[in-house]
Amino acid sequence: MRRSAMILAAALTVSASAAAGARAAEPDGLTVYAGVTVIDGTGAAPRPGMAVVVRGERIEAVVPLAQAPAGGRRPDVAGLYVTPGLIDTHVHLATSPDRRAAEAYMRRMLYGGVTAVRDMAGDARALADLSRASRQGEIAAPDVYYSALMAGPDFFKDPRTQAAARGVEPGRAPWMQAITDEVDLPLAVALARGTGASAIKIYADLPGPLTARIVAEAHRQGFRVWAHGMVFPATPAEEVAAGVDVLSHVCMLGYEASDVKPAAYHRRAPVEADRFKDGGNPKVDALFAEMARRGTILDATDHVYVELDQARAADPKAPPPYCTASLAEALTARAYKAGVRITAGTDGFAPVESAYPALHDEMELLQNKAGMAPLDVIAAATRNGAAAAGQADMGEIAPGKLADLVFVSRDPSRDVAAMRSVMLTVKRGTDYPRKDYRPIAADEVRGFQ
Ligand SMILES: [Zn+2]
Repeated sequence: MRRSAMILAAALTVSASAAAGARAAEPDGLTVYAGVTVIDGTGAAPRPGMAVVVRGERIEAVVPLAQAPAGGRRPDVAGLYVTPGLIDTHVHLATSPDRRAAEAYMRRMLYGGVTAVRDMAGDARALADLSRASRQGEIAAPDVYYSALMAGPDFFKDPRTQAAARGVEPGRAPWMQAITDEVDLPLAVALARGTGASAIKIYADLPGPLTARIVAEAHRQGFRVWAHGMVFPATPAEEVAAGVDVLSHVCMLGYEASDVKPAAYHRRAPVEADRFKDGGNPKVDALFAEMARRGTILDATDHVYVELDQARAADPKAPPPYCTASLAEALTARAYKAGVRITAGTDGFAPVESAYPALHDEMELLQNKAGMAPLDVIAAATRNGAAAAGQADMGEIAPGKLADLVFVSRDPSRDVAAMRSVMLTVKRGTDYPRKDYRPIAADEVRGFQ
């Protein structure tokens, strides 16, 4: 690109940011967020009377107020609490791509404190575009880290895969690949990487040995593997043994308790709830112990089981959901006590009229229903979320990390519901004050699937 064109592109980016109501970070500009209580995302006790010193898009220092440098930009945040930016580890922004709706939901996420999301399968063409627009500051949105899906051939009859691969035969798109023993796995993984994804999502209908080969090849190419808690027929224990990095949907781990496990995603019986006492079952407890030992991350998605319960209540003639919210919460509590690293993922959106993204609901479920300590819930939604996304430079308030920050007026270390008192979100050094938030209009998301 010629230099004049590059300058023009830079100018366009700045004006687009301004349109979003944000103040773009100067590349080397100094910003001092002074007089705050730091909750750093590691689970450590809150530190009052601090200053977070930001240079460009990164944190330069976290120091007592008296040691803060003079000058620079000094937003009015004195007296507030600050946590790392929140990370939702389970969203679907482009199952059936709708750019306008995705932007509306992402705007609510960002102004609600969410600075990054992990998208768990959709149309990678649309996700790449959302990711780029967000990074450029063209839209007010969290950073997007997304996956390329792999599943057995039977899965691609699912209409969602057709919606996410329009124009390409489902199962043959690089971001929606059907895998069999005959597939050239090094090539399949390389194709997945070429979509710009951060990981493979192992979705459904793959046997254990083939799952293990996919994980081994992905890791050989330095690529992460995110998976459903059960792959049908691959079991949770087989996935953990294969070295999957993150497992989603806590209830799917409950299938480990069943003697006869469902063989296919679309033909699954409910998890056998009577095999659990207070969420406990010897086989599942052994699984949690192994996950804790290996560092396998659990993306519990308790929020989605509340949605399933609500759907069932609204339509009692519908088939029973495969799991209830109460069992999901009991299993999450059990995993927490076993020392499993848990993240905060929603797998669903809050109602259009809600002023806050669903991640707040998930955090409150983890605290109020799964019994997690507030500081551990904050770590789940920040540091652990960054680990799940494979992003070492986010998720903590520490020198060298990205300046992804949420300022709130009430103390979230006592009750994570205080995260709803968000006053300011900072993403990569750019401020998004809550007062600039424009609620979602119904017509923005009409028809979104
Ligand atoms: Zn999902």
